[in-house]
Amino acid sequence: MLLKKIEDALNEQVNAEMWSAYLYLSMSLHFEHEGRTGIANWFRIQFQEEQAHALALMAYLNARDAKVVLQPIAGVPDSWDSVKDAFVATLEHEQKVTALINNLYALAEEEKDFATRQKLNTFIAEQVEEEETVRQIIDDLNLIGTDGTGLYQLDRQLATRTFVAPQL
Ligand code: MG
Repeated sequence: MLLKKIEDALNEQVNAEMWSAYLYLSMSLHFEHEGRTGIANWFRIQFQEEQAHALALMAYLNARDAKVVLQPIAGVPDSWDSVKDAFVATLEHEQKVTALINNLYALAEEEKDFATRQKLNTFIAEQVEEEETVRQIIDDLNLIGTDGTGLYQLDRQLATRTFVAPQL
């Protein structure tokens, strides 16, 4: 059995991951509308990844005989001034998620819930990867600046991203 406070905290994280999914779906739809189909594809896959994070937490709650309680998903922005703005917002958001995971880990440690702590290790590794990937794209965007050909090439590159289910 999970401690109630850990069950509640994991349910909150389910909601945070679903909000992330909703955010990236909104970004995907925005860039689809702007005709940047590769960027839209990248965010569409990000949307799938966030759902996978939420589903993995739900599976863990189930495995521990705890109840998953779905809460309303708060609204998300629906437009960004530039591709770079969206990726900077993505990095800032992922840094917040990393802090949430770290807090969960600290709680599991404090309550000597070693199984939860172990489960969260995979999420901690996943966050390192998320932040690194987005930082690399921002670096590329900084090099590109306002060069249209560069942006076109990045769009084509991000069009090749495919969904690989994270091992959580
Ligand atoms: Mg996530």
